[in-house]
Amino acid sequence: MALPVVAIVGRPNVGKSTLFNQIAGDRISIVEDTPGVTRDRIYTRADWLTHEFRLIDTGGIDMRDEPFMTQITQQAEIAIDEADVIIFVVSAKEGVTEADEHIAKILYRSKKPVILAVNKVDNQALRADIYEFYALGFGEPHPISGTHRTGVGDLLDQVVADFPAESDPEDQDAIRFSIIGRPNVGKSSIVNALLGEERVIVSDVSGTTRDAIDTKFVSPEGDEFVMVDTAGIRKRGKVYESTEKYSVMRAMRAIDDSNVVLMVLTAEEGIREQDKHVAGYAHEAGRGVIIVVNKWDTIEKDTHTMNEFEAHIREEFQYLSYAPIVFVSAKTKQRLNKLPDLIKRVDENHKRRIPSAVLNEVIMDALAMNPTPTKNGKRLRVYYATQVAIQPPTFVVFVNDPELMHFSYERFLENQIRKAFDFEGTPIHVIKRARK
Ligand code: GDP
Ligand code: GDP
Repeated sequence: MALPVVAIVGRPNVGKSTLFNQIAGDRISIVEDTPGVTRDRIYTRADWLTHEFRLIDTGGIDMRDEPFMTQITQQAEIAIDEADVIIFVVSAKEGVTEADEHIAKILYRSKKPVILAVNKVDNQALRADIYEFYALGFGEPHPISGTHRTGVGDLLDQVVADFPAESDPEDQDAIRFSIIGRPNVGKSSIVNALLGEERVIVSDVSGTTRDAIDTKFVSPEGDEFVMVDTAGIRKRGKVYESTEKYSVMRAMRAIDDSNVVLMVLTAEEGIREQDKHVAGYAHEAGRGVIIVVNKWDTIEKDTHTMNEFEAHIREEFQYLSYAPIVFVSAKTKQRLNKLPDLIKRVDENHKRRIPSAVLNEVIMDALAMNPTPTKNGKRLRVYYATQVAIQPPTFVVFVNDPELMHFSYERFLENQIRKAFDFEGTPIHVIKRARK
């Protein structure tokens, strides 16, 4: 589940984001469809051959007011902290610069594998120039051209060869969840409350980087939980931690690593753009989602307040209609004790399997209740359905012609499935497929 992380570093204008986009490919999504988001995409999932991994463009984590050298220093440190393999990008056009040497010095301090990519090698003649980059001390330079799309395959061959060996997938049964939200919404207060009192912390030390940042605990009922990236929540006081880009990147990583995501908002501040971005990512990644409204103690309430706030959240996060909403206070501990149970329930729903016979009864009842639509005199026929995956539950519906299955009918079937079975907190996917 914990995919390796690759970080791209290098001074500005060497071609980091060009390379990032090329490796990321054309993954489009509702999140990235939002204007302004595509441009500053800095985190993505990607794959090469049979390897899946995560990719970070550290150049996108800019600390606007900091001097140039501080910025590139911080970016190199982020790469060292976050990555399993680092791609250090330089440019054949300019040769070795002072900034390149500066970054190299920081990267020497890390034990992480560093692969040197010499970009802008747009023609054969320029290949002769790459040898000067041996001087940076990272072995053989890999010539690439972002604009001509050459050399990237060879570079990725080297990257995946340096991935750490897979660690044993222990904790298969543990419930993996993450707590995400903007700075100051109360994430660490919630963590401390959850980990306090009776609960036993099993361990937060072990061999791999991953284990060191996750926290395991057992609830009094004996359920095992893994809180993902607890270290990222407990601040270490580094400059870049307060930047929005860094916190979004960190949140996306945590979402990728968990099955259930607690999306924390506050009653005082409501919903911001960053919240929508991160929530959209969780939805697309197919994770279970619980919306936690913290600091419920801070606002004046009457009998309508909770309903009004809920309506506002539903309006803003329409695609998360399945997510339960809980109003809590980390300060007074109000309703916090409900969280472990809710996380467990959502996790169960997220991996729920429905036997085909039962599923098809529900589908047949649905067809009887609401006749299938016709288009140009042709009627949609639904033959049968089957569940093909969990986490999230994914159903294939076999029909005569998928074109005839209008979005609204697909919605109707999804709703009937939701009515019949408990899928609270989890997205479900319905795929239509032609059966001849
Ligand atoms: P970043 O600041 O390191 O992220 O660099 P960008 O990816 O934004 O690229 C900086 C500039 O270099 C842009 O104008 C790119 O079009 C250009 N560029 C990127 N890759 C290449 C390449 O392989 N060859 C040439 N000639 N230009 C490139
Ligand atoms: P994080 O940045 O999301 O981890 O947020 P923290 O847990 O550090 O909390 C930020 C601030 O909000 C701290 O001063 C907390 O004491 C305060 N805080 C957290 N939860 C609550 C709450 O439920 N009610 C009130 N009134 N303050 C809270």
